[in-house]
Amino acid sequence: MFPLDEKKTAVIFNIQRFSVFDGPGVRTAVFFKGCNLRCLWCHNPESYERRTQLAFDRQKCIGCGSCIRNCPGLCLLPAPEAGLLYRREDCLDCGKCARGCYAKALSRIGCEMTAGELLEDLLEDMPYYQESGGGVTFSGGECMLCPDFLEEMLRRLKEKGVHTAVDTAGNVPYESFERILPYTDLFLYDVKAFHEEVHRELTGASNRRIKENLLRLAGTGKEIKIRIPVIEELNAGELPFIRDFLWENGIRDVELLGYHRMGVGKAELLLEPLAQKAFREVDGESLKKYQQMFG
Ligand code: SF4
Ligand code: SF4
Repeated sequence: MFPLDEKKTAVIFNIQRFSVFDGPGVRTAVFFKGCNLRCLWCHNPESYERRTQLAFDRQKCIGCGSCIRNCPGLCLLPAPEAGLLYRREDCLDCGKCARGCYAKALSRIGCEMTAGELLEDLLEDMPYYQESGGGVTFSGGECMLCPDFLEEMLRRLKEKGVHTAVDTAGNVPYESFERILPYTDLFLYDVKAFHEEVHRELTGASNRRIKENLLRLAGTGKEIKIRIPVIEELNAGELPFIRDFLWENGIRDVELLGYHRMGVGKAELLLEPLAQKAFREVDGESLKKYQQMFG
């Protein structure tokens, strides 16, 4: 076994233990920062940027001024209405402000981790993986935007006999899939729209490469579960087209995920302004009806 390459790092914003929705058994899900799509409904808008960011909860702030005094970049200023004024361009990403905020109004989103640090953390859950037939799922953001790091993690986990899953939107060069194929047991592959112009409108990017990658991946015989977020106002009309495309290509394992508004609140908490529109949440009955379209 080669030593771990400690130069390979990724910015991780959440390690969610005991997840039962991201593959078989009990899983630990790792969420990477950085994404090359901008889905209008994104449930994790704090994952858009690869770098660490700051979140600020005005309700919790007690106005002690500690963050302002401790900031080496002089980029925080008091602001009567908003509580804090932030100059992103001067921020050194040092995290001192959040560490010194005892009211927990300021928090840092994301932490740069080496492959060794993350592996050690993930292997702590080995008994749960073994008992439940679970494993580790890499998600985001888009975890496949860090192919070196991801390949290293997957390879190490496979060496330890851990089941691995990769949750991706597929908007990456196919070479990135080829690199991780030998070490990935399951792909959770997001499909958001069938028509290219609709996809562009909803996510800011074409889906041509996403569809091509999916077909190539399906040709390898790897286990793939398609995941489709359902936001009725935006993509309900796309569902029959997506179904026909998948079925024509022999892809039948499909799960629909109902939109919820969690992303709106998260976007509001970011210290850098980011507004997200709220859509109608999908109730269980409607989701069941849509799911029936997929057999
Ligand atoms: S340190 Fe925390 S509580 Fe104090 S002013 Fe800054 S954000 Fe508010
Ligand atoms: S992370 Fe916080 S303390 Fe550090 S430079 Fe940025 S705003 Fe200032």
